[in-house]
Amino acid sequence: MNYVLVTGGCGFIGSNFVRYLVENTDLHPIILDKLTYSGNLNNLNSIAKNNYTFINGDICDEELVQNLFVKYEFIGLFHFAAESHVDRSIDGPKEFIRTNIFGTFNLLQCSLNYYKKVKNNFKFIHISTDEVYGDLDEEGYFKESTPYNPSSPYSASKASSDHLVKSWGKTYGLPILITNCSNNYGPYQFPEKLIPLMIINCLGWKPLPVYGEGQNIRDWLHVLDHCSAIEAVYKNGLMNETYNIGGNTEIKNIDIVHIICDFLDENKPSNRGSYRQLIKFVEDRPGHDFRYAIDSSKIENTLNWKPKESFSSGIGKTINWYINNETWWRDIQNVKYNQERLGMKNS
Ligand code: NAD
Repeated sequence: MNYVLVTGGCGFIGSNFVRYLVENTDLHPIILDKLTYSGNLNNLNSIAKNNYTFINGDICDEELVQNLFVKYEFIGLFHFAAESHVDRSIDGPKEFIRTNIFGTFNLLQCSLNYYKKVKNNFKFIHISTDEVYGDLDEEGYFKESTPYNPSSPYSASKASSDHLVKSWGKTYGLPILITNCSNNYGPYQFPEKLIPLMIINCLGWKPLPVYGEGQNIRDWLHVLDHCSAIEAVYKNGLMNETYNIGGNTEIKNIDIVHIICDFLDENKPSNRGSYRQLIKFVEDRPGHDFRYAIDSSKIENTLNWKPKESFSSGIGKTINWYINNETWWRDIQNVKYNQERLGMKNS
């Protein structure tokens, strides 16, 4: 069996990636996930249980991770597990330092101990974000050579983990690859993030909180395009290299909210009128980056990867998914998340 370790495989991108591996490859994912507030076993519901193995555990647990390497002799590790929400990192940075930095260190050490003994075709794929580069004004794009300049405790912890991964490649010869991707959207995204939050608030006829004046710009990529990019990097990426991944789809936050409202007005109209009435501008996030934009020409030209989903079709499919999977997000609302405003502690 070709076992790969997928950390954070019960989160948004990790669970989509596990499904992608099962449907498109002969790799058997061993999922290591601590099931924090954003980890959810229901994210794996549509995958036959014999196609993956779930381990409930912490990436910081050295003995557990060592034992997994001995038992499964992994040929790859896909590292998604992280604390991932900027607002939460402003309120409580400690867990971000522990999981994102120390957890990554632990995985690197365990990988290295294993790799030195087994010397197989093992690769460590580190999944990171474009937020490590800081922000841009109206012009320019993040390239792989752009200096790191993170703004939030979240992006600083991810930047730190990227540096650790690079150094384990350079210093110890561990085969590593890093991906820095723009904002993902799609099914199974925890509803604290912009797109699912706006969709389910519309469906519940609740206010749509937009930070500042909604002028901040993000590049958006459908999660399955992110998954195919990671697979391309795993298969054909050059060791010790970083690959930027983006959708060439820069959109202002307020425009995203308008797109969602207009789609629902047309496809699930409310008898109370247009969903745009629900938009409510709220105090901006402290240190809110203005613009992210990715130059993904390296992965496009060297690994022949391109996103398949256009934003206009992908967002429609995504909104329909949340309409059709109400039980999934209602369960989260009931147990884990009451949609309180986060990240205002220091403002
Ligand atoms: P998520 O919050 O939905 O999922 C994170 C998962 O990690 C959860 O299942 C959680 O239970 C698990 N986890 C957290 N701490 C853990 C620990 N100590 N041990 C084991 N498991 C733990 O996050 P996501 O949006 O799916 O992001 C996944 C990765 O992709 C992150 O590393 C993030 O930085 C990166 N990324 C995300 C985006 C995005 O738009 N969401 C974009 C680029 C990169």
